[in-house]
Amino acid sequence: MRPTVIKYSIVIFVLLLFASGMASVLHIDAIEKEIQLFDAERFKSVQCTDEELSLFLDIAFNRKEQRIRKWESDIRVEIKNISELDSEAIAEVDSVIAILRPLILPLNIDRVDEGGNVYVYRGVDRAEPSRKPSRLFGVNGLAKINECTPLSREIRYAHIYDAKQAHTQTLMHEFEHVLGLEHPFRIYDYYLTIARSVIPQDYTAYGTWLQFQGMPYYISPQEKTAIRLLYSSGIRSGLKKEVLLEGLGMN
Ligand SMILES: [Zn+2]
Repeated sequence: MRPTVIKYSIVIFVLLLFASGMASVLHIDAIEKEIQLFDAERFKSVQCTDEELSLFLDIAFNRKEQRIRKWESDIRVEIKNISELDSEAIAEVDSVIAILRPLILPLNIDRVDEGGNVYVYRGVDRAEPSRKPSRLFGVNGLAKINECTPLSREIRYAHIYDAKQAHTQTLMHEFEHVLGLEHPFRIYDYYLTIARSVIPQDYTAYGTWLQFQGMPYYISPQEKTAIRLLYSSGIRSGLKKEVLLEGLGMN
């Protein structure tokens, strides 16, 4: 090959590389713009009190980026160790699903025998199989959702593990994580299933904690509304908190 031909080939190669890099940056920009389109009217059509809205603002955005993470397609729950479980342990999963179903409409959540996207392991002492198997040490349960990519913050699959000693409240708590909820940052004077600890930090919540901590499948009305707000079709996975606040005239 002549030196000039080699020179031109290199220049063309570099230009193509640059063009494809630019195209991918523009593509990510276009997707990001679409994600940040917040439909405030649609969001406001979900009835809520100021207290419920402030709970939503606390638990519906991931801590790292302050963005929404949620499912955008139907949820299929598959119990991976179903052959080791008694009918009651299976029925408990069905009960949690039945409680959550009306909260995430128009999406659906169902239990399936195969082809799931939420894998449940009940009564286990290790969180495996997973890339980083970890012992369920000092915790009653664990939920893991898929990582984000630059193009998507959608939740597409998840794993739930609960320990032998766990109650249905642990199962409900882990399912709330799977829907995209985080532990609250603030202190509340009512019992929250998604709270980090079953022991309320606020002494005034002690009464409600005693009342609800042993109640199977309990989920507070405020949390139910926070989930309904999260699954409003007015917001998409990846929406930034600042965009939502601006759209609601709150900053
Ligand atoms: Zn948790």
